[in-house]
Amino acid sequence: MKENPRVFVSDGMDGLARRAGRDLLAPLRAAADCRVWPHVRPAAREDLREELAEAEGVLCLLTDVLDAELLAGCPDLRVISSISVGVDHIDLDAATSQDIVVGNTPGVLTETTADLAFALLLTAGRRVVEAGDFLRTGAWAKSRWAIDSFVGRDLHGATLGIVGLGPIGQAVARRAQGFGMRVLGWSRSGREVLGVRGVALEQLFAEADFVSLHVALTAETRGLIDARALAAMKPGVVLVNTARGGVIDQPALVEALESGQLGAVGLDVFESEPIDAEHPLLGFPNAVLTPHIGSASVETRVRMVDLAVANLLAGLRGEPLPACANPGAER
Ligand code: NAP
Repeated sequence: MKENPRVFVSDGMDGLARRAGRDLLAPLRAAADCRVWPHVRPAAREDLREELAEAEGVLCLLTDVLDAELLAGCPDLRVISSISVGVDHIDLDAATSQDIVVGNTPGVLTETTADLAFALLLTAGRRVVEAGDFLRTGAWAKSRWAIDSFVGRDLHGATLGIVGLGPIGQAVARRAQGFGMRVLGWSRSGREVLGVRGVALEQLFAEADFVSLHVALTAETRGLIDARALAAMKPGVVLVNTARGGVIDQPALVEALESGQLGAVGLDVFESEPIDAEHPLLGFPNAVLTPHIGSASVETRVRMVDLAVANLLAGLRGEPLPACANPGAER
């Protein structure tokens, strides 16, 4: 490794380090000249531009947008290590053409994110948040238990359609089998997954009572779930998205909720994050909304940081990354 490569870390992650009981950045501090973003507010675009102007490596979050224009101003950058599996915030083509290797954190967050997807399927299907609010606001105390109060949808016996059969889609399929669901799946590469009936997207939309999205966000998957796709789904379907907000055309989603075409939604990700406090989605009682917490367990977040640090150190040493998102740049 070059002596003291200059590294920028866009978030000190002190809270997570306290929970983990160790300095998660210690291996990085030992091997690099490490500049950690010192403020509580996140690094803005101009801050990133300044901090990365002379950096050789960066440890970043999914909220740090590293597009072609920004990367063009980073002549020394050799490694980008993102603490995420999704890399849609990084221009991979631009990075590759600048010989910058990009690391991500696949695998270590698979089960935790699948748990959240399943939690959203259950919560949206069984109206857990809506019913909880009814109790907390005192409405229950003023009324009574009724035979049709908060009746929702059974998962057992229902058909789940999984869009995208990567690691997380497969982990959701395993959970669905345990719940006695019939599982349909679609992937662009026609992956065969045990216990999942591979079908065309149209058939999945036509037959699924619950749809869960697990494709990476790319130019091809942006807006995959548009007005046409939503209209092709079964009326009353429960739609869950723990992939990326851009996979759904959000205005079309709002319309489908308004019209009743969608029975309920469970959304962990949004076209623009954080979602505006006035956004119409917040007005639907049948929309279960979480602030991008798919991988949010202490153990998993720590595993993600450890893998991202290992990626960064390997890249600085000129070694293959444990997890590389643009293998074309590795030489
Ligand atoms: P992944 O490797 O990121 O991608 C999953 C699937 O995306 C792959 O199976 C792939 O299909 C599909 N895909 C990629 N490009 C495509 C295209 N152009 N058209 C259609 N499908 C395409 O796997 P993962 O680990 O299961 O993660 C899935 C996504 O979940 C991530 O990309 C990330 O954005 C999101 N995520 C969110 C959270 C959260 O906090 N909510 C946490 C973790 C991950 P093939 O198999 O056919 O190649």
